[in-house]
Amino acid sequence: MQKGQISVQTENIFPIIKQFLYSDQEIFLRELISNAVDATTKVKALSSKGIFKGDLGDLTIEIIIDKENKLLTIRDKGIGMTSAEVEKYLNQVAFSSAQEFLEKYKNEAIIGHFGLGFYSAFMVATTVEVNTKSYKKTVKGAVWTCTGDTNYTLDESKKKERGTDIILHIGDDSVEYLEEARIQGLLDKYCKFLPVEIKFGTKKETIYEGEGDDKEAKEIEVDNIINNPNPIWKKQPRSLKEEDYKSFYNELYPFSSPPLFWIHLNIDFPFNLTGILYFPKLNNNLEVQKNKIQLYSNQVYVTDDVKEIVPEFLTLLHGVIDSPDIPLNVSRSYLQSDQNVKKITGYITKKVAEKLASLFKKDREGFEAKWQDLGVFVKYGMLSEEKFHDKAHKFALLKNTEGKHFTIEEYKEHIKANQTDKNDRMVMIYSNNLAEHDSFISSAKNYGHDVLEFDNVIDNHFMQHMEHKLTDVSFVRVDSDIASKLVQKDETQESVLSEKEQEKIKTLFESKIKTAGATVTVESLSPEDQPVIITRPEFMRRMKEMQALQGMQAGAFPDSFNVVINTNHDLVAEKLLKMRSEDKKEEFVSHLYNLALLNQGMLKGAELTTFINKSIEFLK
Ligand code: ADP
Repeated sequence: MQKGQISVQTENIFPIIKQFLYSDQEIFLRELISNAVDATTKVKALSSKGIFKGDLGDLTIEIIIDKENKLLTIRDKGIGMTSAEVEKYLNQVAFSSAQEFLEKYKNEAIIGHFGLGFYSAFMVATTVEVNTKSYKKTVKGAVWTCTGDTNYTLDESKKKERGTDIILHIGDDSVEYLEEARIQGLLDKYCKFLPVEIKFGTKKETIYEGEGDDKEAKEIEVDNIINNPNPIWKKQPRSLKEEDYKSFYNELYPFSSPPLFWIHLNIDFPFNLTGILYFPKLNNNLEVQKNKIQLYSNQVYVTDDVKEIVPEFLTLLHGVIDSPDIPLNVSRSYLQSDQNVKKITGYITKKVAEKLASLFKKDREGFEAKWQDLGVFVKYGMLSEEKFHDKAHKFALLKNTEGKHFTIEEYKEHIKANQTDKNDRMVMIYSNNLAEHDSFISSAKNYGHDVLEFDNVIDNHFMQHMEHKLTDVSFVRVDSDIASKLVQKDETQESVLSEKEQEKIKTLFESKIKTAGATVTVESLSPEDQPVIITRPEFMRRMKEMQALQGMQAGAFPDSFNVVINTNHDLVAEKLLKMRSEDKKEEFVSHLYNLALLNQGMLKGAELTTFINKSIEFLK
């Protein structure tokens, strides 16, 4: 038996390995199985080149738990190693690359801690035994053992079959890795799509024997193969059907509602990238669904935290990205400035925009039907990515209160004649609550205006963004002013009252309305408009909303609103002016004001009760 020291001139790195990545220890299994996959792929390559002449046999990789002896074995039938190769690869190459890796990244967050390699075994094992036999027929097998310090032993092995057993003597603080459920969980997470079959124990399967009445159910033991070695993202899109994409989605996210549609990414120049991105049903929800894209490198799972690799808004998508060209053992911050990653990001954004554009072009009706779910995503993209904005401008839709969809340009055309203000700006009028704004919407429509429905969580930001981008458009909420003033024109309406009478009316209301933030004005509206209308000026309301979104204390901006008295309404111009009794007048003014408050949902509590009781009295 040969004894030796791994590398005399270096410090003992084993304690560092043990502590390093304490939270992410589990990756040891991925690293070791990846090596087994590589060794298997290599022997296949040697065979197809005719260098290895024997029978390849069954190449399944096996994961074996021996709870009693506290062993976890990863067994492959790959190329194996000669004892000289063990010395070279494990004692030198693997050791120094692990050391280099630790030096470089011990203080940095890197994507999925990819690349620590063989020595990650020592995060969970006190002793690691490597029992290996090379594909080269004439050489004997070799056993290497190392007990978590720099000393190792190397001996001849009796191993007969080609390949490598990595036998981990699991430490007392890592016994979780002897639990079947824990290992099954890790295999599901990291190995689900590895290109070589991986067996973990056996499972029972029901088969049916015989025909017709003689048919009998029988339980048999079969290998538990935990992975799907040919995931659909590696296949040619043209060989796949809609059902294939849907069932893969179901495999990735069991129990979710089916995706709206998907994009199959498939590129090999100037970088290699495959994958499938799904558009989920978002249901007007931005937060819950994020971070569902899984990143793979040659079918090895790396992470589901891809925010450095795909633009923020695309993290709303689901699916898989697989690229060996994403540098995984670099710090996260470095990734964002990496040219390759930038190209990949740009490519994905472009693909997504193209897919949406083609859906819009090919099937506008279908696109409109999906807009409720797509809208959030598209608007988010327009807000956050300049390039995406430019492309999406052509297919982003606006929906009006009648349920009709328009592109932005179509809508400008639609409202141009009626809703251009004195400064030549097109005023887009919107409501974010059709039920609450009903009377305002019908007033606006009476003026020949069109009203948009904005009810996405993101619409506030989207509006600001569009105003900024399109200098000839502004947005106002339907209750921000009286209908005739939503679009500011120069024309004024004649009042049926004299200035003196108008002043009198104004004072009457002012003396009654004591609510903080209320400003009383008199306007000569149409007799058909309501007698008293409460409006909330756009600017102040938006400031307040922004404040609330940023989680600031409400009330830093006072709740301000306008109380507009329509001096052309009969109740005001005729009835109120002619009233003699001061009490009656006061009651009348108060009732009109309460009606306006009610219309804005502002009449609440005791005041609402009093108002209702009074109205009942009134009917008696
Ligand atoms: P990497 O896999 O990145 O090269 P590792 O530290 O994981 O680094 O492994 C070092 C080397 O040890 C590998 O390149 C390979 O030559 C050899 N090796 C590790 N595991 C196996 C295995 N299961 N079968 C054959 N060779 C292996």
